[in-house]
Amino acid sequence: MKPLIGVTCKYSYDGTFAVEHNMGIVGQQWHYLPHDYIHAIEMAGGIPVILPIYDDIQNAIELCKSLDGVVFTGGNDVNPVFYGEFPMDNIGIITPGRDLQEIELIKYILSETEKPLLGICRGTQILNVALGGTLCQDLVEKNFNNHSIVKVPGIYASHEIIIEEKSKLFNIMQNKKSIVNSFHHQAVDKLGAGLVVTARASDGIIEAMEYLERDAYTLGVQWHPECMVDRYKDHLNIFKSFIDSIEK
Ligand code: MN
Repeated sequence: MKPLIGVTCKYSYDGTFAVEHNMGIVGQQWHYLPHDYIHAIEMAGGIPVILPIYDDIQNAIELCKSLDGVVFTGGNDVNPVFYGEFPMDNIGIITPGRDLQEIELIKYILSETEKPLLGICRGTQILNVALGGTLCQDLVEKNFNNHSIVKVPGIYASHEIIIEEKSKLFNIMQNKKSIVNSFHHQAVDKLGAGLVVTARASDGIIEAMEYLERDAYTLGVQWHPECMVDRYKDHLNIFKSFIDSIEK
């Protein structure tokens, strides 16, 4: 069997988006996910499985035992309470149930397994928070460039990154520079324990980090490579190397 890859999903606890599109009932909770993640993992040779937010977090841990790897996907802002800060004015919508489950799942995967872990956008941010790191709550408010570049379609790049030569990401992308899309208003600030920065944007914002405390593939990227896999081979390689790291 091909590797079975868990994919975390977005979550709405009030169903607003569904009601707006004539689906569901006011107050219902919904799970949802862009297809790009499914496409990228299938293209790289894996079988994706969407992981819901369970009522019982232990069910997520139990299911994870049957998976070969997990991709932590993009989504809402992480609750600043998990890194000891008050929320700033420009914080986005918070999904506390998702935060709690993902923090527990990351801790389990890193401490108890050799399963590969890939964090994408929010997935990178929550990986950092799970390891005790902090986030910049709003880049524009902190006078950084606007990394929420929504006027360039996500299938194309919108800014450059500079990659550390001695890193997994350099081995994957085979270049000291690459170009990435950018749909984030937050970023990793202080690094969590065991993490190192392996790519930055020209304004210094952290665009990739890796975890060095275990051998298994553990990479976080701030951009959305899943949207770029049809046009950029180096971005497809992020998923291929993730799948190829699984011993079958
Ligand atoms: Mn960016």
